[in-house]
Amino acid sequence: MFKKILIANRGEIALRVQRACRELGIKAVMVYSEADREAKYVKLADEAVCIGPASSAQSYLSMPAIISAAEVTDAEAIHPGYGFLSENADFAERVEKSGFAFIGPTPESIRLMGDKVSAKQTMIKAGVPCVPGSEGELPDDAAQLKRMARSIGYPVIIKAAGGGGGRGMRVVRTEAALLAAVQMTKAEAEAAFGNPAVYMEKFLQKPRHIEIQIMADRHRNVVYLGERDCSMQRRHQKVIEEAPAPGIARRLIERIGERCVAACKRIGYRGAGTFEFLYEDGEFYFIEMNTRVQVEHPVTEWVTGVDVVRTQILVAAGERLPFTQRQIQMRGHAIECRINAEDPFKFTPSPGRITMWHTPGGPGVRVDSHVYTNYYVPSNYDSMIGKLIVYGDTREQAIARMQTALTETVVEGINSNVALHRELMVDAKFREGGTNIHYLEGWLSERGR
Ligand code: ADP
Repeated sequence: MFKKILIANRGEIALRVQRACRELGIKAVMVYSEADREAKYVKLADEAVCIGPASSAQSYLSMPAIISAAEVTDAEAIHPGYGFLSENADFAERVEKSGFAFIGPTPESIRLMGDKVSAKQTMIKAGVPCVPGSEGELPDDAAQLKRMARSIGYPVIIKAAGGGGGRGMRVVRTEAALLAAVQMTKAEAEAAFGNPAVYMEKFLQKPRHIEIQIMADRHRNVVYLGERDCSMQRRHQKVIEEAPAPGIARRLIERIGERCVAACKRIGYRGAGTFEFLYEDGEFYFIEMNTRVQVEHPVTEWVTGVDVVRTQILVAAGERLPFTQRQIQMRGHAIECRINAEDPFKFTPSPGRITMWHTPGGPGVRVDSHVYTNYYVPSNYDSMIGKLIVYGDTREQAIARMQTALTETVVEGINSNVALHRELMVDAKFREGGTNIHYLEGWLSERGR
């Protein structure tokens, strides 16, 4: 097992990985930007290295800074967390070339899945169902584009091959809007991701977002850890996640889970990964694979009893998965609310000093957060300041516990979306379960009226 791991991230996930290291008796090296100097997890670290100024381009995204930090501290492995360099194949390659273990899949797998066009092509070959669409990158020819969209059927969605974080997508409802939409998405994709390639998919009208967590070791063992429902989204960003997905038959989950396992075996995947699907009328359609730990991993941890981050570390060190597929049983229900420093109505970011932070407790309550009273939320990064996760024997109990937990939660000094979560927990449709990916936005615009 590793003796020392460098955690190349910040915020709640940096703390989450640090906790896993402690549990395994591994020393944790934290890297931090000048804006995160005061963070508690930095003070709690066995060692901490400042890697640059607040701007992430010069700190958390700086490969040389992170690799030098690993060198000077004699770390053996690097955990990239999520976001930042976690899905950067060049980074994974440089980490390995510099003699460190990368806690994640091979650079080849990251590259293959990081390009959504090659990811989709791989999945089609592996027998994983995908959204009907263009077979690859879109051509320039106008007549060809029109023919393609007509055969897929409007509305279609134009997506950047290199896209991520809900950006680089455009819905097209009529032929008249098609060419301009393709051109605009290409230009945006080039500017935002350095890759102008775009592809076309059928735009599904009322799908749910269902994803399958998988875990693989270096000995060809692959297990799926059930599903998560992440349909409560705003601007393609998840707001609430839960496991299991309400109302989907177990045999459907098993069937798609087995397909994901087969796909992983085919590409020699290792580490944690998530297959994201849209689910409509009983069918799954693959949209992308995330080759890293996800924000919403705690709901899976709760219903399966598997520690996802710990397992990531074990398999990166070459150990075998400590469980088999048959040992994975989903039990109870878990829900996660993402707590963001933002206006609960207008969603503008709300950085600044938290004058009061009080977190809930009690049975079935987990809080993953790096913040505390008097913590200053920097304006340089993502607005998520924590996650509130609850567990119940049933979904009803989980919702009841979430309501209590949200009532106990106090965030003062900055705005947060806690009030939004409180409202959503009493919403009749949410409580029914099975809302589609457009539900939350519709609900928000109703509320705004
Ligand atoms: P990203 O990598 O930016 O998260 P995804 O491909 O995972 O992009 O898509 C993000 C979200 O966009 C999905 O969860 C869904 O809400 C919406 N979306 C993507 N593709 C489609 C589609 N073909 N039809 C309808 N909605 C889609």
